Amino acid sequence: MDFSFSDDLLRWRDHVRHFVRTEVEPLATTLDRDDEFPASLHARLAELGLYGMAIPKDYGGLGLPLLHEAVAIEELSRTNLCVRSRITTNIGIGAMGILYGGSEEQRRCYLPPLARGERLSAFALTEPNAGSDAARIETRAVRRGEAFVLNGRKIFVTNGPHADYFTVFAVTDPAKGAHGGISAFLVERGTPGFTIGKRHELMGLRGSAACELVLADCTVPAANLLGELGQGFRLAMRTLDKGRIGMAAGGLGAAQRLLERMAAEARARRGDGQHLLADCAIECEAARLLLYTTAARMDRGERCSTEASMAKLLATETAWRAADRAIQLFERGACLHENIVERYYRDVRIMRIYDGSSEIQRLIIARALLFA
Ligand SMILES: Cc1cc2nc3c(=O)[nH]c(=O)nc-3n(C[C@H](O)[C@H](O)[C@H](O)COP(=O)(O)OP(=O)(O)OC[C@H]3O[C@@H](n4cnc5c(N)ncnc54)[C@H](O)[C@@H]3O)c2cc1C
Repeated sequence: MDFSFSDDLLRWRDHVRHFVRTEVEPLATTLDRDDEFPASLHARLAELGLYGMAIPKDYGGLGLPLLHEAVAIEELSRTNLCVRSRITTNIGIGAMGILYGGSEEQRRCYLPPLARGERLSAFALTEPNAGSDAARIETRAVRRGEAFVLNGRKIFVTNGPHADYFTVFAVTDPAKGAHGGISAFLVERGTPGFTIGKRHELMGLRGSAACELVLADCTVPAANLLGELGQGFRLAMRTLDKGRIGMAAGGLGAAQRLLERMAAEARARRGDGQHLLADCAIECEAARLLLYTTAARMDRGERCSTEASMAKLLATETAWRAADRAIQLFERGACLHENIVERYYRDVRIMRIYDGSSEIQRLIIARALLFA
């Protein structure tokens, strides 16, 4: 495709690609089978600075542009999507609330250990009665002197079982609704009243680990409020905007890998499945162009919420169709466990749900047109 990469970006892509092929690929099947993230892989990701790609240099990260980050995530996703999930949660939804909303003191305290991979972060918005409509969260935070007391339950918190810092959203003023009535708090593992709950047994993205959180009179210092009181919902939406670029890059990497597998299989079968291949190739190119263009525009400081939604929707739906087509082409072989196509089929299915489902992305895109 004709999207010019600088020499620096090409070097970065090749560096990550080499690491993925030599060190992640050999672990891809075991990660899924064992549903555990090896400490040795964590250590290598930290050593390469991948946990701090998006964190500015002032706070110990690599401070890379979003396009560099997207390209790295695309490469990581060409082998196993749980690695993408762990990293993008740490540098995206888990850390961006601190970067966007945190005070200078909070940034200096929390971001460097996250960037170095010494600590892991998580984002806790979803609740049993509030998923797509996050404005309906029920977790309450009540001010008591120099502290806030949090009560409620969060579910599907990625990185939760291993994370140290959690961005937790709670209602501080029910009368004001989401805009003005929800605040964000930084909650550290080990805070009294904060319990890591049941780990979810996921169909896909195994190895990424998601769990419930229980907040029972969980008392956090008032200094752990992230951003202004009542501005938590806005912070969550801004954080998720950026997260969608990471989702799009993940979808694209998965789709590209599936396309390559399908091409190899079609060659071996002397050309079977040409229509499946052609459709998949067209969609990958479209998803790539939209992703790179949107990331480059965001690097120039442009606000691209709608385009980020389009990129997430297109890339994850492309990955999903690629997985379905690959199963069709490979037939019985792809229905076996430990077949890469079968693993991607389970993994990419989840990408159409989280960080805003496909239906919610369509609503965001349509509303931007209707209310422009
Ligand atoms: C593996 C995994 C990891 C996750 N990680 C995190 C995390 O780290 N932090 C976090 O806070 N959350 C996380 N989530 C939660 C995720 O963001 C939610 O699952 C998602 O927002 C959808 O919410 P829901 O599951 O409650 O579905 P619901 O909101 O109940 O939606 C059910 C269905 O209805 C559709 N729908 C809902 N509203 C509308 C509408 N207005 N118009 C049209 N269709 C609609 C949805 O698209 C969906 O298809 C994770 C989820 C999964 C599966």
